[in-house]
Amino acid sequence: MTTPSAGLPAAASDLPFDSLPLAPAMLDTLRQLDYRTMTPIQAASLPLALAGHDLIAQAKTGSGKTAAFALPLLARLDVRKLAVQAMVLCPTRELADQVTQEIRRLARFEANIKVLPLCGGTPMRPQRDSLEHGAHVVVGTPGRIMDHLQRGSLVLDELSTLVLDEADRMLDMGFHDDIAFIASRCPSARQTLLFSATYPEGIATLAARFLRTPQEVKLLEQH
Ligand code: ADP
Ligand code: MG
Repeated sequence: MTTPSAGLPAAASDLPFDSLPLAPAMLDTLRQLDYRTMTPIQAASLPLALAGHDLIAQAKTGSGKTAAFALPLLARLDVRKLAVQAMVLCPTRELADQVTQEIRRLARFEANIKVLPLCGGTPMRPQRDSLEHGAHVVVGTPGRIMDHLQRGSLVLDELSTLVLDEADRMLDMGFHDDIAFIASRCPSARQTLLFSATYPEGIATLAARFLRTPQEVKLLEQH
């Protein structure tokens, strides 16, 4: 991915993925992707997220945060129910596209999982058509997600997992109010996972508003 560590494997912990309560097919997919051991942020956050906790997770870029939220949201999907059950908010279209690709890779164990990117800079109409055909997971930027919510083309009644990825950057870009609007359209009985590379003051405020008794996982820079 286009991170400073692009092309380098994320630093590993020595914990294998099969120590987690994941379906055998998902463990097979991880083996096929050559994901052998968890990265430190994955080892710290996956057991909590898979147990259903809300989470504030902080670790530097390139540490494997995508799989740390993608595996829990995939584990909870009911594939037979074609409704948006998980949503990932990202600050930019580029990041949303990367997250979409990573979730699709991790979702290979089940051919029918539909992951749909919803970002600005592309026409609304094809996105509305895709939403009408149904998606299990949507990944998008706050502005375009809001647009779909206001027009009624995106319904979040069945949402069980909300992810705020790169939350620090979303705050820097002035998305606080959009996030608040979007969260108000999500069921309150949901899991919310907040991922961030840094921990500015605004993150605590955001978490206090939108997360429920979150567990905090912070990894300090490792050199
Ligand atoms: P972050 O979101 O923290 O910046 P990413 O989720 O983009 O990091 O992951 C960085 C890179 O590490 C990606 O190329 C991803 O495929 C790879 N990666 C993530 N977890 C593992 C793992 N457990 N084993 C091997 N590679 C991994
Ligand atoms: Mg990331």
